[in-house]
Amino acid sequence: MQHLLTLDGMPRATVVELLDRAQHFADLAGDSDALRGTAVCTLFFEPSTRTRMSFQLAAQRLGAHVLNFDVSTSSARKGETALDTMRNLEAMGVRGFIVRHHDDGAVARRADAARPGTALVNAGDGRSAHPTQGLLDMLTLRQAKGEDFARLKIAIVGDVKHSRVARSDLHALRALGAADVRVCAPSALLPDDATLAGCHVTHDLDEAIDGADAVMTLRLQRERMEDGLVDSLEGYHRDYGITATRLARAAPDAVVMHPGPINRGVEITDEVADGPRSLILRQVANGVAVRMAVLERLLAG
Ligand code: ASP
Repeated sequence: MQHLLTLDGMPRATVVELLDRAQHFADLAGDSDALRGTAVCTLFFEPSTRTRMSFQLAAQRLGAHVLNFDVSTSSARKGETALDTMRNLEAMGVRGFIVRHHDDGAVARRADAARPGTALVNAGDGRSAHPTQGLLDMLTLRQAKGEDFARLKIAIVGDVKHSRVARSDLHALRALGAADVRVCAPSALLPDDATLAGCHVTHDLDEAIDGADAVMTLRLQRERMEDGLVDSLEGYHRDYGITATRLARAAPDAVVMHPGPINRGVEITDEVADGPRSLILRQVANGVAVRMAVLERLLAG
């Protein structure tokens, strides 16, 4: 594996190896020196809090030198191309690039242009993929519900159409053998491509949540949405918001997840987001461990 661009088509064995290694890092009290002397750089063309910070921390916990490329204050503002930027950083010895971009496929295009020995990690491209989020969601689910994904009932609720998280989650769930995946959203927020193959699709939240072991809710991606797809936030919350009342239909030990950032009171109420079934901060913690596993795999040795 030279780059990590998507989980689509990743063999189950590779997903499991990465999750096992991430669990090792989650359990590790100290740090590792697997990447001592290696330089990595974050290149984010879209905002980020969790992903960028946790990649930085992950790289530091592996002993790497970490550079942060700030697009707004760099020579990109003077017209330097993305390829020239990457070549210059490669010339300084940077071996790993963690890239987020608003365009679908932008990270793969940069990976095609990378020199042998340079690794790229997709930290989210457009609506296409966010593979480390998919892995951290699987690690969180596995910790809570065990390794047998085939017996789990999983509801994915919200703006699937614009969500790279949903796509990477679905790729990973497929690899791990999840058989009962319900996807729930208004028609305008459902993709019309192959994303939902094998899923039970419904507009009825109660039906999606019924007996579910896990409810994975998604942010409304208003920055990627044409106007008018959602009539009103109040209406969306009424029909698709995760509330304690709705959750009562799930399995008694159901867990709730959200990739963040949360629109509180829209996708999910405070009561649920901050309640005992919420794994939202566990997801964040697992993000560091998963990103350590990915960086080690691509860059160590
Ligand atoms: N932080 C995640 C992403 O960048 C989820 C979101 O923004 O809704 O895709």
